Formats: sequence, C-alpha cells, structure tokens
Amino acid sequence: MNWDDYAGWSKQIADWGAEYHKSLGERPVRAQTKLGEIAAQMPASPPEAGEDMANILADFDNIVMPGMTHWQHPRFFAYFPANATPPSMLAEQLVNTVAAQCMLWQTSPAATEVEGVMVDWLRQALGLPDGFTGVIQDSASSATLSAVLTMRERATDYTGNKDGMSEKGHLRIYCSQEVHSSIDRACWVAGIGQANLVKIPTSGSRFEMDVVALETAIQNDIAAGHTPAGIIAITGGTGVGASDDLAAVMRVAQTHDLYTHLDAAWAGSAMICPEFREAFWQGVEDYDSIVFNPHKWLGAQFDCSVQFLRDATLQLNTLKIEPEYLKTSGEAVTNYSEWTIPLGRRFRALKLWFLLRSYGLEELRNRIRNHVAWAEELCERLRVIEGFEITTDPIFSLFSFRCPGDDAAQRRLVDALNDQGKIYLTQGAHKGRKVIRFTVGQFDTTYDDVMMAETVIKDVWETIK
Ligand SMILES: *Cc1c(COP(=O)(O)O)cnc(C)c1O
Repeated sequence: MNWDDYAGWSKQIADWGAEYHKSLGERPVRAQTKLGEIAAQMPASPPEAGEDMANILADFDNIVMPGMTHWQHPRFFAYFPANATPPSMLAEQLVNTVAAQCMLWQTSPAATEVEGVMVDWLRQALGLPDGFTGVIQDSASSATLSAVLTMRERATDYTGNKDGMSEKGHLRIYCSQEVHSSIDRACWVAGIGQANLVKIPTSGSRFEMDVVALETAIQNDIAAGHTPAGIIAITGGTGVGASDDLAAVMRVAQTHDLYTHLDAAWAGSAMICPEFREAFWQGVEDYDSIVFNPHKWLGAQFDCSVQFLRDATLQLNTLKIEPEYLKTSGEAVTNYSEWTIPLGRRFRALKLWFLLRSYGLEELRNRIRNHVAWAEELCERLRVIEGFEITTDPIFSLFSFRCPGDDAAQRRLVDALNDQGKIYLTQGAHKGRKVIRFTVGQFDTTYDDVMMAETVIKDVWETIK
C-alpha cells in the first residue's frame, strides 16, 4: 500500500468511526454471537497473494463487527468501563502513525518528557504531594507486579534478583480478602507464592481490611520466622468497591517498616474530586507505590495505567538492567524502561495530554460526580422493587443487588439481560452468594440511559421468573 492510498483509507475509517459511535446506542451491548462463529468464517490458512483493502474492510464489517462487545456503548454497566474519549483516540492515531518505540529518552525524547509532565499533572490532579514521581505502564497488573518485586527485593536486601529465591525463607505480603486477582498473580510470578499472600478479613460498610487482624498476622508471622515484605491496600475493589482505611493500614506498615502499594486501578480517577479524596484518601501521601488506570474512568484510551512512586530508586534498584547495547551517553536522563518489566514502550502519555487539555479537569470531575449520583439514584429505585435486595450499597458508582430467588436465578437474570442487549451487566460474589454488579462510568452515558436500566431489569425479570 502506498501512502496516498493509506490517507484515503484513513479518512474512510475516521468517517466510519464517527458513524459507529453516533449509532452505538442502537446496537446490543454484548456481542450476540455463538462460540466459534467468527473463526468459522475465516480461511484456515493465510493468503499467498495480497488482497484488496476494500475486501478486507468489508470483511471487518461483516465478520468482525458482529462479534464485538461495545465497551463504548452508553449502557455498558459491566465490569469497570474502559473509556476511549475522542481526543485520546486522536492522540492514539498519531502515536500509531509515528510508530516510535520509546524505551529510552534517546529513542524519542518527547515521549519521555511528555510522560514526565503528564505523570506530574496527574499527581497534582489527584492531590498527591510534591515528590512523587511515576511511570505509565500498560496495566495495573504490571504496576502491581513491579511493586511486589520491589517488596521482595527490599526485604532481601536486593539479593533476590542475583541469587534467586530458593534460600530466602518465606516472604509474606498482606492484603484484604477483597483484592483483585492481579495481586494473587503478582505474588505467584514474583516467587512469593499464594501461600505467602496473607488475606485479612474485612469489616464495615466499606469492607475495610481489619487492621487489628493485620497486626496480629504480622506478629504471628515474625514469631514463626517468616519475613513480612509489604502490604497492598485497595481503594475501590473490583467486587463491591471495598476501600481500606489507608491511614490505619499505614500505621501498621510503619510499625514494621513494610513497603506499601495501593491498588486504586478503577477508583483512583475519582480522586480528581476533592470530596472523594477527603472521604477515601486520608493517609495516601505515605504510600510507596500507587496505581490507577486513566484508561478506566478518566477517558484515556486503553491502555494507560499510571504508577506513582514516593521514592522511585527502590523500584529502579529492582528492575533496572543496563546491557551495553542500551547504554546512552553520559547525561542523567530518565529511561522509563528501567522502571518497568517490558523494555519496549508505547508513547502512552500523548493521549493523556490530548485528553486533559481537551476536557479540562472540571469537565472530567462533572462526569465522575454525575456517575456517582446516578448510581445512587438507580440503587434506590431497585431497592424498592418487590423482592429485590441491594446486597452492597454504592461505593463510588458501584453497587450490587439480587433478584428474588437462589444463586441460579441471579445467573439467569444476568444472562437474559445480556442476551436481550439493551444493557450489559456482570455477576459477582459477595459473602458467599452470587450478586449482580452495576457500575456507572461510560463517558457517553446519560441520566436516562442509567434510569432506563430499572425498566429493563423489571421487564426482563418478568419474562424469566
Ligand atoms: C481493573 C482492575 C485491576 C486490573 O487492571 P489491569 O489494568 O487490567 O491489569 C486491578 N485492580 C483493580 C481494583 C481493578 O479495578
């Protein structure tokens, strides 16, 4: 393909994209295809001769699009959102077009420098004190793994990388029972092991880690000859929005000199609003590592996960490696690939720059405040439907409920709703029972979209009860 053809197709795709987004509300939210249906429409082997782009795009429409679940749909209330705002999408087009690999300052100084400025803009937007630096990663899972590796290395005097872990005894990491599975997986692959991830029970309306139980667990571990290495706290857990008392957890961490990581992958975006910082983030300034995903609730196209670090040298001591072929001349430059596990890096900061400039913080705050208020109102509407039960009240914009009947009935309702396609919800579990999660956060969602869910849920329930 030559570059003139490229320009023509690009324009066509841009027009297609605007139409797609404008008419999205008319499509079923979750893909309605059966297992294997898409693959069956594709040739089993690659073509020997090149094909025309017109045919390829036609097949994209006919074969691929029916198999897409529409994450940008205004009635996407499942999981957590993955918002792609138009300005962030435009930035991604530019990044894809220039197609630089930004592993070192020298391999694209602008990427490193824009990243530094964006991390600092977001630090200020989230009310974190001066002194925090940070790095943009692909996902919260990668940031959490980086933090767990740092806990491991710090607790072993930075000898784990060199000597391996076989003779290091049991390092212990603590978190609540409400953490995301990425914390378990980080402990698996860091050589800590699931058995040494100590999950502390939660209590209270925010399902906070019980800090008395945390202190007891640490003391018992020390007595048993184990080595406590770190604590992972959460703001806005995936199941029901569990949020730890950060200051209380920090007091325990400081008593035992433990490294701390905060997983705020979803709810961190809400911290651009001072009232949520006031209510949820007292004590955050002492955390060593904090992760939040602007690709969820802030509107930066996936993927974009920011990890803030109070003292980046600890993570650099853990992850930095400098073979001869990566050495650059003298100057003290930042090479972000030394802060993370992958070497290669996309230019992720550009979409933050476009996003923050195009909307401004006040408009972003408005969205988040609306989403929270609308979730609260819908929750009250569902609470009074006969036989329905609110199983967890809204924390930020997430709540959970049950329809009348057993666990199987919850599953039936979720499946029937998603087969019908007007809204998309997912299930969860809470206190040993299946629940239905509802989260508001898609950027194009309106008050009416959210409230429509009440009617849809009632109507679909009537058909399956
Ligand atoms: C989404 C989420 C994660 C995982 O995020 P990835 O970026 O997909 O790795 C971890 N923790 C919480 C609380 C989340 O909401």
